[in-house]
Amino acid sequence: MTRSHDLFQAAQRHIPGGVNSPVRAFRGVGGDPVFFERAAGPEVFDADGKGYIDYVGSWGPMILGHAHPEVLAAVRERLDKGLSFGAPTELETVMADKVCELVPSMDMVRMVSSGTEATMSALRLARGYTGRDKIVKFEGCYHGHADSLLVKAGSGALTFGEPSSPGVPAALAELTITLRYNDLDQVRETFAAIGSEIACIIVEPVAGNMNCIPPVPGFLEGLREVCDQSGALLIFDEVMTGFRVALGCAQGLYGITPDLTALGKVIGGGMPVGAFGGRREIMSRLSPLGPVYQAGTLSGNPIAMAAGLKTLELISAPGFHDRLTATTAKLLGGLQERADAAGIPFSTNQVGGMFGLFFTGERVTNYDQATRCDQERFKAFFHGMLERGVYLAPSAFEAGFVSSTHSDGHIQKTLDAAAETFMAIAG
Ligand code: PMP
Repeated sequence: MTRSHDLFQAAQRHIPGGVNSPVRAFRGVGGDPVFFERAAGPEVFDADGKGYIDYVGSWGPMILGHAHPEVLAAVRERLDKGLSFGAPTELETVMADKVCELVPSMDMVRMVSSGTEATMSALRLARGYTGRDKIVKFEGCYHGHADSLLVKAGSGALTFGEPSSPGVPAALAELTITLRYNDLDQVRETFAAIGSEIACIIVEPVAGNMNCIPPVPGFLEGLREVCDQSGALLIFDEVMTGFRVALGCAQGLYGITPDLTALGKVIGGGMPVGAFGGRREIMSRLSPLGPVYQAGTLSGNPIAMAAGLKTLELISAPGFHDRLTATTAKLLGGLQERADAAGIPFSTNQVGGMFGLFFTGERVTNYDQATRCDQERFKAFFHGMLERGVYLAPSAFEAGFVSSTHSDGHIQKTLDAAAETFMAIAG
């Protein structure tokens, strides 16, 4: 028996399911979760000392690899000055200036402590600003676990077959209109019928919580158009895509300007951070400037700001995202070749340093296709790779992530493991 097994048994005594976030429990793939002890660069090491090449990267933040020396140094430098003040610090201004410089749609930004807080607060602001209650989201997109957004959600909610959580009051769920991702006709029909009642559309500009599904050409443009016509706000949830698919985020990559943006993950460099921001006129409705309330004891925490700022500085180096994109493309091209060689129907999606693996022969552009993929094969592939020292997301409905520390050698090792695994599961 492994130490991870014993630790998982112990964890279940006092932690629901033994985990503090559901997908970690491996329910989507079966078996015991691996307990991690430490990580460095592209590798994580489990409680038994076994190393894995990591394509989860703490679900996205570790774009520079784990325990990056400069990020750790920035954190260490802050530590001796105190952990939290609950009062303003200069670091928060530096962070706000940097974010607004990198993401031109944001004139103002407020820091929070998680992606959930960022989207939840953006939603409240959109409702407060427009004076409307209804919101539009897309099936299979995940925007954190706030009540309004846990309706037909993705990520763990989808993995465990409960996309609409009990505990969300029906009266609130009724205000959430869930449409099909990449289906602009349905969006247009909905807005033609009730556009004047809709406060906002919230969307992952690249869906990353039903596996990885890029927007089809014209989809994001169309969302911008219906929002402009109806007076609804367009919220890009860039918690996952922010600084990951490009330095200017997905909005820069696709050239669409949202009214509000939610950020998380990379912006905290591995610390608990989120942010939301947008046009000055809208953000000025936020307390203390305006009446829409939002607050946080640890918001803008100095240690978190130090880690996030150093991360943003390092990923701003010229060519950083080009290299990340090229490494990811190499990985996916190699996986496709090896799946083809084993005769396994397989396809991939990629945007920058974010990717999706699908056990189907077709290109996946929507939720129905993603959920129709061969999940048994995915599970077998996941475990085959895990055994061979490659850690993939333990669910068929999550995107994968590459870091700047994944070298050609790591990619080759991954592909060698994949060649063996594809052959083993081909039968
Ligand atoms: N939005 C998106 C697009 C996400 O991927 C996630 C988390 N995976 C969230 C929001 C919620 O972020 P957090 O888990 O930090 O609350």
